[in-house]
Amino acid sequence: MKKLYSVLLALFLILCAGGCGTQPADPQSGLSIVTTVFPAYDFARQIAGERAEVTLLLPPGAEAHSFEPTAKDMARIQNADLFFRNGGESEAWAEKLLDSGESIRSLAMLDCVDALEEELAEGMQSSHEEHGEDDETEYDEHVWTSPRNAVRICETLCGELCAIDPEGEDVYRENLRAYSEKLHALDAAFRRTVDEGRFHTVIFADRFPVRYFVEEYDLTYYAAFPGCAEDTEPSAKTVAFLIDRVREEGLPAVFHIEFSNEKMADMICEDTGCEKLLFHSCHNVSADELRAGVGYLELMQKNLEALKEALG
Ligand SMILES: [Zn+2]
Repeated sequence: MKKLYSVLLALFLILCAGGCGTQPADPQSGLSIVTTVFPAYDFARQIAGERAEVTLLLPPGAEAHSFEPTAKDMARIQNADLFFRNGGESEAWAEKLLDSGESIRSLAMLDCVDALEEELAEGMQSSHEEHGEDDETEYDEHVWTSPRNAVRICETLCGELCAIDPEGEDVYRENLRAYSEKLHALDAAFRRTVDEGRFHTVIFADRFPVRYFVEEYDLTYYAAFPGCAEDTEPSAKTVAFLIDRVREEGLPAVFHIEFSNEKMADMICEDTGCEKLLFHSCHNVSADELRAGVGYLELMQKNLEALKEALG
């Protein structure tokens, strides 16, 4: 009997040494949430607050669409209380992992909202064109770019956290309330900007990962490539098409996205004299941005300022 006690005591000490040191804020809880893309990471931080340790798998500055998890990442996912991901084509690896029978609690942002099918707009250059009609429906993954969707995603996440950790319910609900308020204010500011703008067309001389955003605010758009396109070498035809759009509408600016080579935007600006502006899709952030602690709200606030200029 005495031996059993000492074994139990030893076990307890081992467990404590492993777990107690990492969560000074609340050793009782300390949920671990593993996320794939930056918006999931930031929303998890906002709603879980001190009660969870949130990990972002995408390294700073990394391209979200070509991300392949390491063995260490896989282990992290398997040991997490919640795997909070984007869902969709770019995360086929995650679907495979979840299908493999591992018991992983997972939530995909794509499942929190009404998903839109991927669209090839007029003038867009795509390497997908040769695909047959019978291809499986592909959903546009960039659901978070609409602030209203961000609210829906955070609401679903909050419900999930309350189910996993009922003791934290009051904290999660209060965090959700405070964060949603800011998201609603952001949404209202975008709506006002669009209402007051002289123009109602935006041009992305780049990939176009912000379809949910333009649909939300009823903006007309033209873009060079679909949201998750790998090939971003501008063709003369695409450049000419977008230059015509800028000229016809007399637009003051075109957008490029983050981590872009900005080639096409430069060509169009040179030709038309319009301005080049950044619209941050929030897929991922740079190491500097991460260190500075920027979040979805700050990035979208900058997008708001850019949109004010672009809509005149
Ligand atoms: Zn994407």
